[in-house]
Amino acid sequence: MTGMRRTDYQPETLAAQVLGYSDPATGGVVPAIQPSTTYLREPDNSYRFGIAYSRADNPGYRELEALVTELEQGQASLCFASGMAAATTAFLALRPGDHVIAPRVMYWGLRNWLVDHARSGGMLLDLVPPGDLGALQAALRPGKTRLVWLETPANPTWEVTDIAGAAKLAHEAGAYLAVDSTVATPVFTRPLELGADLVMHSATKYFGGHSDVMAGTLTCARTDELWERMVYLRSNLGGILGPFEAWLVVRGLRTLFLRVRAASETALYLAQRLERHPGLVAVLYPGLASHPQHELAAHQMRGGFGAMLSLRVRGGEEAAIRVAAHLRLFKRATSLGGVESLVEHR
Ligand code: PLP
Repeated sequence: MTGMRRTDYQPETLAAQVLGYSDPATGGVVPAIQPSTTYLREPDNSYRFGIAYSRADNPGYRELEALVTELEQGQASLCFASGMAAATTAFLALRPGDHVIAPRVMYWGLRNWLVDHARSGGMLLDLVPPGDLGALQAALRPGKTRLVWLETPANPTWEVTDIAGAAKLAHEAGAYLAVDSTVATPVFTRPLELGADLVMHSATKYFGGHSDVMAGTLTCARTDELWERMVYLRSNLGGILGPFEAWLVVRGLRTLFLRVRAASETALYLAQRLERHPGLVAVLYPGLASHPQHELAAHQMRGGFGAMLSLRVRGGEEAAIRVAAHLRLFKRATSLGGVESLVEHR
């Protein structure tokens, strides 16, 4: 049972209290895990809790999806087995042949999938430089472009895109705007408030927060036809989240604001210190005045710039790999958003 809403409480309170959850069956103050794959019918043939079978829904999704919806100020959310399952579902919900625009710099796994999906005829794809609204405008095909995808800040060089500006351009052309907001998190940016239609998260990162659960989410501004198609695909493609994994993500979200703010403060401190380091050619971090979209980031990201930064090491690839190999605290492993400090050469 949850009752707290965004009209009455700050987002950090909603997250910490899981919307005021208590278990109606036991009085437990943390969400229960329901492993059942199937649910009883009532004498009148209905389902008491509206759930028939766990490929379509699970009671443990309710707290997770309701909380993400509140944090993103949306209308509804869906959780998935990974960030990739969430993102690919958004594209698979389009009609074959729809035109899509995405940034050239974005999470590489999704960009590769988009190129492959376009090559096999699933959609028409244009990749544009990240953060460049002029290039976005030039690529838009009014009436034909169905979806504009952004990632801001963009992994791994952390360009920032003006979400409100992109939303205006996309909407003028009759397209949806979707934002991968994994790196910003709702702590710093709420894309739907800025005009986006869909927000995606790799919940594997900051939502879970402890590098021990793979998950993804989508949140919509409106439950329209395209959204219903995503609901249908989650159930029928079967890329669903297990009930224990959903529980872990809810547990992670309770400390999201504390973790993300602390990690972001540390990243800013490191970026400022490292910017003066003679062994580095550049420090890429939206919180630095030297970042090309720093002003936009300061305006769009409220209270911090995220916890991801990239370093360009003098001496090229070999030197960069050597630096990564010799760090003492940072572990050399891919991913982000956990409590560990990770480093990776790209
Ligand atoms: N989006 C971003 C920005 C990511 O960094 C990642 C993974 O690294 C993904 C999406 C994909 O998420 P997942 O690994 O949960 O499928």
